[in-house]
Amino acid sequence: MIELDTPLRHLLPAKDAKRLGERPLELVTVADLLEHLPRRYHRRGELTNLADLVEGEASTVHARVVRNESRTARTGRRYAVLTVTDGTAQMTVTYFNPARSPARRLSTGSVAVFSGKVDRFNQRLQMVNPETHPLEDDDGPGDDPDRWARALVPIYPATEQVNSPAIGRCVRVLLDGLGEVADPLPADLRARYRLVDLRKAYELVHQPESKGDVERAHRRLKWDEAMTLQVILARRRHEISAMATIARRPRQDGILPAFDSQLPFALTDGQREVGATIQAELAQPVPMHRLLQGEVGSGKTVVALRAMLTVVDAGGQAALLAPTETLAVQHYRGVRALLGGFGRAGELDETPPATRVALVTGSLGARAKREALAAAADGGAGLVIGTHALLHEGVAFRDLGLVVVDEQHRFGVEQRDALRARATDPPHVLVMTATPIPRTVAMTVFGDLEVSTLTQLPAGRSPIATFVVNAAEHPSWRDRIWGRIRDEVAAGHQAYVVCPRISSVVAGQDDDADEGDRLEPEAGPGGSAPGRGPGSRTGPPAAAAAGRVEEPGFGDGAGSLAGVGVEELLPWLAEGPLAGLRVAALHGRLPADVKDAVMTRFAAGEVDVLVATTVIEVGVDVPNATVIAIMDADRFGVSQLHQLRGRVGRGKAAGVCLLHTEVDGDTPATQRLANVAATTDGAELARLDLGQRREGDVLGASQSGRSRTVRLLELLKDERLILDAREEAGRLVATDPDLASHPALARRVALALDDRPVEYLEKG
Ligand code: ADP
Ligand code: MG
Repeated sequence: MIELDTPLRHLLPAKDAKRLGERPLELVTVADLLEHLPRRYHRRGELTNLADLVEGEASTVHARVVRNESRTARTGRRYAVLTVTDGTAQMTVTYFNPARSPARRLSTGSVAVFSGKVDRFNQRLQMVNPETHPLEDDDGPGDDPDRWARALVPIYPATEQVNSPAIGRCVRVLLDGLGEVADPLPADLRARYRLVDLRKAYELVHQPESKGDVERAHRRLKWDEAMTLQVILARRRHEISAMATIARRPRQDGILPAFDSQLPFALTDGQREVGATIQAELAQPVPMHRLLQGEVGSGKTVVALRAMLTVVDAGGQAALLAPTETLAVQHYRGVRALLGGFGRAGELDETPPATRVALVTGSLGARAKREALAAAADGGAGLVIGTHALLHEGVAFRDLGLVVVDEQHRFGVEQRDALRARATDPPHVLVMTATPIPRTVAMTVFGDLEVSTLTQLPAGRSPIATFVVNAAEHPSWRDRIWGRIRDEVAAGHQAYVVCPRISSVVAGQDDDADEGDRLEPEAGPGGSAPGRGPGSRTGPPAAAAAGRVEEPGFGDGAGSLAGVGVEELLPWLAEGPLAGLRVAALHGRLPADVKDAVMTRFAAGEVDVLVATTVIEVGVDVPNATVIAIMDADRFGVSQLHQLRGRVGRGKAAGVCLLHTEVDGDTPATQRLANVAATTDGAELARLDLGQRREGDVLGASQSGRSRTVRLLELLKDERLILDAREEAGRLVATDPDLASHPALARRVALALDDRPVEYLEKG
């Protein structure tokens, strides 16, 4: 009997074990190899004869190499050309990267499966850089050609050193010697959900006889993933519930009742309900950990402020953390305005009962910062507002009772843990996000939080109409953007023009410098897949680098605005299409006081058009702005677009969002834009978007680790399974938090934690 943690070198030839153990596979133990799942399966019978290949189609052929040549292109670059045949016809296979090409392993006479698109070159069919799987002789038909043709051949993620058939052979050796396997899933659970045991699952996934076998194995292995995750999360919740902290009870004579009675608007039902839930939790001697989800503009700030006032009334302090300085400053102003005299203790216009609001940001002057820090430390400031840096820089509080984190999608599990570890009496935590999160994502990524949702927008909100301005297909539409902006300004409104970058001139330096303003492919829902996100620089080099900035042609083709940055667009707009309007720039590389002044002027209506980067993405609240044009919108993720769009429609007048793109045709990017234009319902958008992305994009960074926890699970498709696993995990942890009677599961969880697999939302 073989144990799952037995090193492979005890069981396999030394040479094989060594190669498997090397990067990037790093398969060291029996479990490593058995969990190294086939990426897909070939059914030999489904292979295409070379004679039947059709130009332009993706095909898979099984062929023998008859010639293997290395040639030199006119540029001097070398490339490899194979001639292959399956007896029905010949084909050319070309590999352009000789150093890494599989051609090196395909000498004349060897056999391989080639998968790729068929095209024609010099009258001959060819595949360029096809996916290539060399076959060993023992993969041949043997005595039973029928069975051979019918079998599913696993195709493993492989390397040059260890190809897929070699991995298959090693797996076979293990499975032959594998006895009973300690199963992490309890037998009763397996019975209830009709899951095969782990050993069987390994057999079915590595040596299936049918698609059904693979499906049965996958369902079982998905359960392992889901249970591991949910047990980790259930244990977090369990630990949190065992933590003790100070209960913060409301006070009749406190600031909150006075504040409520003077609010200029009536709270929505949702705001009232969530408020009551939060108050009840704050009144417990157990730290609250709640996620408040709510559409852009649904009024989360006032909910947070009321929670903060509850804590202040109970003698504690509250911190409000924003993802960027711009937003922290805006929160500070907004909160001061909402509080009025209640936020001005010690000032002339104090209205008792009152507290003080302190702003702590990196760009404060030394004296202002000293004062703010002192007010936080001596408790003079009941409310402290800043960026996330507040936590890392160890700002001292007299009695921190509540931390509110705005725009959670930039705030990971690790930071939440840091908060909990911070004090002897850990603060209550309220996390807020407008990024729509599908339920299953909320349950996995934010599984340690309880969730509340504000579904209703305050009365008086206006609809937003969204249009895709495809300038590649309709060049004349570019002018309509500027025409629309002029119309809105003429009607007394204001506009945003958003660019994905500050400047197109200095390649590589176009990231916005302000920490949270950087363009990252989002890890959160609605983000973008690698290579097509705003962070990717795969677009054509902006022509501005060649000195053509004075013309409205930045990218390919006449008049194209592809790749344009704030610094080029603004002067061109100011002298051209928007001449006569008051135009200003806002981006992270501007000094903080300039950013501040620009925002203040825009808020006061002294600037008509703000040409900005995504610094305005979150929270910026200027109700008089009615139109937003997003340039190169295809470079943004869905949630970013949704956030940006939420900057308009905040007042009485209807909002307009124009999604400019220079991308032609039906691509994932243009599909994304069509989705955004089709609905303003964030939850619906999140579903649409999640459906188009791979799980790795959602779960993010740690998914590259060695023992990845989530490989098969699909957050959208496997919602039912994840819900079931959550329930099972909760029950299991409630009765046996240390998993004492489930050693195999405990081991899996420990392994997963070792790899820190739950820091999903590190980025984005
Ligand atoms: P978000 O949820 O996007 O953070 P905010 O908290 O910034 O939204 O609220 C957006 C605007 O709506 C603010 O100007 C706020 O004062 C206002 N607001 C909040 N609640 C209400 C309400 N119940 N009625 C009317 N206006 C409200
Ligand atoms: Mg907000």
